[in-house]
Amino acid sequence: MAQTKRVSLLGATGSIGNSTLSLLKQRCDEMPDFKVVSLTAQKNVEALALAAIETKAEFVAIADDAKYSRLKELLHGSDTEVGAGEAGLNDAAARECDTLVSAITGAAALRPTLEGVKQGANIALANKESIVCAGKLFLEAARKFNSKILPVDSEHNAIFQVLDNEKRVEKLILTASGGPFRTTSLEEMKLATPEQAVAHPNWSMGAKISVDSASMMNKSLELIEAHYLFEMPQEKIDVLIHPQSIIHSLVSYDDGSVLAQLGMPDMCTPISYALSWPTRMPVPGVERLDLGKIGNLSFERPDLKKFKALEIARQALEMGSWGPNVFNAVNEIAVEAFLKKRIGFIDITSTTEKVLNRFASNEFGIMTDPVNFDDVFELDKQARRIAEEQIQA
Ligand code: NDP
Repeated sequence: MAQTKRVSLLGATGSIGNSTLSLLKQRCDEMPDFKVVSLTAQKNVEALALAAIETKAEFVAIADDAKYSRLKELLHGSDTEVGAGEAGLNDAAARECDTLVSAITGAAALRPTLEGVKQGANIALANKESIVCAGKLFLEAARKFNSKILPVDSEHNAIFQVLDNEKRVEKLILTASGGPFRTTSLEEMKLATPEQAVAHPNWSMGAKISVDSASMMNKSLELIEAHYLFEMPQEKIDVLIHPQSIIHSLVSYDDGSVLAQLGMPDMCTPISYALSWPTRMPVPGVERLDLGKIGNLSFERPDLKKFKALEIARQALEMGSWGPNVFNAVNEIAVEAFLKKRIGFIDITSTTEKVLNRFASNEFGIMTDPVNFDDVFELDKQARRIAEEQIQA
């Protein structure tokens, strides 16, 4: 039997968290080659306790301190230790493990994910926001602590599977479904509700990433993620709309060859690849790709007038590493405001653009790149505050 892999999971009650748990439960039961070390959630204490019992996790942490006693109560009599708050989350990530799955939403994942990096664990990275806001520093830390970043985002996972850096890469091509508003007019998009925005045609995901997909902020964050992760200049990263979400991304080489990774849109495949890397493990539950049944795959270029986020992301990258830091923070605040119906759908992108430009015009002082993580957190905090003010204005 292969050596048992110790796995921790940040964001165990979310969409990625649930898919990861389904894989882990199967592997722990049928062939005990995985051991669950720690699990975390923000407030969903019932689901977290159930997951801890089912996986016999060593440690669980709930970010919301107020839920600590309820979690203790639910796990009374089990061997699982319990923690809470930011310290609890960091403890969960710092527990010795082979692979840390980072699946918390937003920049809130950065601190605990860094704990995993510091212990030299492999990081199965679903959370794109941490690499967007701290790109260079995050990768430097990974190199320093010998922590391997294994992308879980399906596009980056696809590129990771087919990228051969020894060969000359001409381009990375990130595919995008186009989201629920691909064929919607700009006028109609202005009236879009949160319910319409979260109704993704192909993927079932958490609310924040679903809204990001609808505005193409998700692809914009992915563009930045790919730039850092694969050390690729942004001019060499293209975005291509592919509504069926079968080709998860492509790498174009300078001999004219284009390599792609294909599969049904099911996050269990990239998660399992990251969990089992450098080998693969069977995932019987994933529907097999039958191209004969699908018949046609189609492609189109993104409409950059309708989905301005893609161009704003490129501008943010040109500004320096502070640009993506601000871009991400403002988007997080704007998405939250949209979900609470405080702003319209189009305002998400326009708020991000306005605040980014205010920073770029040195309204808040001359912008320089963060030199350490404290700078990243400080800028993130400031950008959130300015974004909130902009929304109120
Ligand atoms: P969900 O909203 O479904 O789940 C988020 C998880 O993180 C939950 O466990 C939630 O706990 C926890 N959480 C949220 N905020 C905090 C916080 N501030 N502190 C601690 N824990 C928190 O999100 P997804 O699973 O859809 O996405 C997670 C990450 O993975 C995102 O970065 C997303 O971009 C990325 N991703 C997701 C994909 C998908 O298919 N869903 C695909 C590719 C990437 P609770 O349930 O208690 O609120």
